[in-house]
Amino acid sequence: MTFSRRRIFGFVAAVALLLALAGAAVFPTIERHYMRQQAMQDAVPLKLAVESLRATLDRYAPLPALIAERPQLTILLQNAADPVLRASVNEDLRQTAATVKASDVYLMDISGRTVAAASYRDEGSYLDRNFSYQSYFTQALNGDLSSFSVFGTTTGERGYFYAAPVEDGERIVGVLAIKFNIAAFDSIWRGADSDIMVTDRNDFVFMSSRPDWHFRAIRPLSDATRRQIAQNLQYPIDRIDLLPITTTPLGQDAQHVYIEGETREGFILTSQRLTDLDWTMASLSPTAPATLSAFRSLLIAGLLVALGLMALLAYLLRQTRQAEALAQEQRAKAVLEETVAIRTADLQTALADLRQTQTDLIQAGKLSALGQMSAALSHEFNQPLAAVKSYADNASAFLERDRIPEAKDNITRISKMADRMATISAHLRNFARRPQQATGPLSLNTVVQDALAVIDVRLAAEGGRVDYMPPQTEVWVTGGHVRLQQVIVNLINNAFDAMEGQRSPVVRVSIEGTTVHVRDTGPGIEAETVAQIFDPFFTTKEPGKGLGLGLSISFNIVSDFGGTLSAANHPDGGAIFSVQLLPATPHQVAAQ
Ligand code: ADP
Repeated sequence: MTFSRRRIFGFVAAVALLLALAGAAVFPTIERHYMRQQAMQDAVPLKLAVESLRATLDRYAPLPALIAERPQLTILLQNAADPVLRASVNEDLRQTAATVKASDVYLMDISGRTVAAASYRDEGSYLDRNFSYQSYFTQALNGDLSSFSVFGTTTGERGYFYAAPVEDGERIVGVLAIKFNIAAFDSIWRGADSDIMVTDRNDFVFMSSRPDWHFRAIRPLSDATRRQIAQNLQYPIDRIDLLPITTTPLGQDAQHVYIEGETREGFILTSQRLTDLDWTMASLSPTAPATLSAFRSLLIAGLLVALGLMALLAYLLRQTRQAEALAQEQRAKAVLEETVAIRTADLQTALADLRQTQTDLIQAGKLSALGQMSAALSHEFNQPLAAVKSYADNASAFLERDRIPEAKDNITRISKMADRMATISAHLRNFARRPQQATGPLSLNTVVQDALAVIDVRLAAEGGRVDYMPPQTEVWVTGGHVRLQQVIVNLINNAFDAMEGQRSPVVRVSIEGTTVHVRDTGPGIEAETVAQIFDPFFTTKEPGKGLGLGLSISFNIVSDFGGTLSAANHPDGGAIFSVQLLPATPHQVAAQ
């Protein structure tokens, strides 16, 4: 299956969009997962902080009860006006406070008035002030061994207080209270990764690593709460304002919170309740790492999907490219095939034309050969026929006059003419029928000698000489004796014909290997006729002197023997004809 590039890119774009949408959709879920994980991690240090706070509080809890045991205190409460006693108790409390690192230790009578205080020397000392409205006072007065609370008090300094009743036997005569500065805790928490806040039952933040969160309420105050605070002066009411928190639950004891006015995106709030105190301690860590983790996870997933998509894309593109290449190849092939078909058709037409032309030419050649033959034959036969007619007329005239010898002479001439015509006829027969005579091993020298014997007759009449040197050893060739002799006679005759007019012509006959050369000193063969001399009826001789069949017949004879007949001009002038024959096999020679 293949796709167009546009479709592939469309597909990829659609998938990428879908992916982005899916990412956007699942992002909050992933983010919440990481937030919950963060909350779980935060729970551990929170627990430690809670334990540490509780340990510190517990450590000081027995202190007021111990100090309250001192008999001096009861005495002073019974003689409150005694300045010496009071000074001594004041000093005693001051030393105690220094020892336990409390910010104040003070003694109140049952009306709540402070009769002695460690801070007696300081400005703003608790001395002579009345704390009857404070809950720790009332609780201690009710007989609780120890109680504590956190207050802003009028000084604005946050502290936590322990109080214990001072007893005279069974009777409660006063209350001893110790105040510790709370700021020490805040400073311990500061600088950690998470912020810490501790809220009381009214959801007031009274401890926090963030000073700006101190004395702020994380939910709106009800009128009743407001009235209660105003009444016991627990917090500086004028400073209490709202810390606007929006929360979304993340799980048990964990929330995702936004605090208005904060620069940070939000916090992961992990909380733990201190049930006995009715406090809640919470750690607030920034959401940024969780968001980052979620983003990173999503990015990795996205990248993986993108990578997969890219691989798929590469694969599809490659498929498409291959398909395109194939289609192109097929198109090219089709075009090529069409071209070839057209060219083939052209060629076939051309070939048909050529065949037609060839046929026409052959036809024309045949006709011309026929014409040549007719002309040659009519000439060859007409001349002796005309002669025969006139000799016959003469003989008849001589006979009428009883001139017998003259008549006889004419009749003899007629007979000679008849012989000549018979010779011509025999030539023609030779040409027409190539008898499949047997071939065998021949002594080449013997054949040449026999041919020379035939030629001698002509030489005796016309003059001339044949120069022949027989070979040193016998040369055996394949052929027919009479026919080969006829070929050599023909070649020698042609050679003397070519040298007609020379005074003492010499034809050189030689044997070289299984080839017979016949060489003359005539004019040689003209370049334009060399291709034609073996054609039947080709002759350059005058009418009556040659039929133009000799070389043609010779050529065929030598071919029948499996040999070749060739003509060339000798470099020293004249023509040289060569009859190259097949050597006879030793077996054939032995059988001879
Ligand atoms: P013909 O002798 O009847 O002409 P041939 O076939 O024997 O027929 O010879 C054909 C032609 O070849 C001759 O007319 C002549 O022009 C040429 N020819 C043959 N032999 C020779 C030669 N030795 N030298 C030059 N021309 C030759």
